Amino acid sequence: MCNHNELQQNPSHFEQSDEVTTHSDMGWNEYQDLIRGMRFFDPHIHMTSRTTDDYQAMADAGIVAIIEPAFWLGQPRTGLASFKDYYSSLVGWERFRSSQFGIKHYCTIGLNSREANNEPLAEQVMEILPLFLYKEGVVGVGEIGFDDQTAAEDKYYRAQLELAKEAKLPVQVHTPHRDKKRGTERSMAIALEHGLDPSWVIIDHNNEETVKSVLDQGFWAAFTIYPFTKMGNERMVKVVEQYGPERIMVNSAADWGISDPLAIPKTAALMKKSGISDEAIRMVTYQNAIDAFGLSGQIDVADFENGVAVDQSQKFNGNTILRGGQQPRVAKDSLVIR
Ligand SMILES: [Zn+2]
Repeated sequence: MCNHNELQQNPSHFEQSDEVTTHSDMGWNEYQDLIRGMRFFDPHIHMTSRTTDDYQAMADAGIVAIIEPAFWLGQPRTGLASFKDYYSSLVGWERFRSSQFGIKHYCTIGLNSREANNEPLAEQVMEILPLFLYKEGVVGVGEIGFDDQTAAEDKYYRAQLELAKEAKLPVQVHTPHRDKKRGTERSMAIALEHGLDPSWVIIDHNNEETVKSVLDQGFWAAFTIYPFTKMGNERMVKVVEQYGPERIMVNSAADWGISDPLAIPKTAALMKKSGISDEAIRMVTYQNAIDAFGLSGQIDVADFENGVAVDQSQKFNGNTILRGGQQPRVAKDSLVIR
C-alpha cells in the first residue's frame, strides 16, 4: 500500500511545493554538495547511446550501478543478426565499458514493443531470447509492453511474460506514451492474467495519472525523469511527498534522444532540498531497484556498494576504451587537453 498515513500526518510537504519551484534552478556545485556521499542505482539507462563523458559524470555524481534494458535503436532493425549483436553487446562490451568507470552494469533482455510489429522478425527474435536471458548479469525481461497497443504487441508481450515466468526473472514493462492510462492498465491486467506476481513486475514511465493504480495493485512503480516530456523532477518530488517511497523508483531512461544521465542524482538533490528524508531518497534512488531486480538472483550489492574497482589494464576481447597511452579519466575542468 502507498503511504497515505504520512501524507495526512505531514501536510506541510504540500505547503513547501511552491518553494521547490522557485529554487529549482540549482547549479552543479550546489547540487553536488547536497548529495555528497549518496549512492545511486539507475535501473533504466541506454548506455550504448551515451559517451564516456556520461560514464565519467555519472560515476562522479555517485551512480554505482545501472540496468540497461534492451530497446529500439531509433530505426527498425532489418534482420536477426542485428538483434543478436545488440544483445551480445549488452552482456559484453557495454558491461566492460561501464566497469572502466567503476559502475556495475546489468541489463534486461527482451523484444521491444515497437519491433514486435514486424512479426516475421519477431518470431525469430523470440527463438534467440532464451540464449541471452540466462546469462550472468541479466536481471529481467525488458523492456517489453505496449507502444501503439496493436495485436502483435499484445501477442509478444504475452509470450515474453511466459518466458519471464519460466526463467524466474522480473519483468520491466514499458508503458506507451500515447493513451498511457489505458496502456498501463492493460499491461497490468495481462500480467495478472498470466499469473505473474505483481511484486515481480516493474511498471515503467509512470505519471500522476497512473501511479495510484499501479501501487494499489501491488506492482513496482518506476518513473522516468525526462526533460520536457514524461516527468520533470519537480513533479517527481511531489509524487514521493504524496505516496511515500515504498515500491517507487526513479530512472533516467537516458538514450539517443534528449535526456539526462544525471537525472537520478539531480532528483535526489531536489528531494533533499524539499525536505524529503535521506532514507526515502535512498529507497527511490537506490534500494527499491535493488530489491525489485534482485529477485533475479543476479544482483550482489557487495559488487558495488563500496565502489567498483577500476582496472584500467583490463581488456575485452583484446580491446580497451583507450587510444594508445591514454588514461580513462579526463580532467574536465582543465582548459588544456593533453
Ligand atoms: Zn528505455
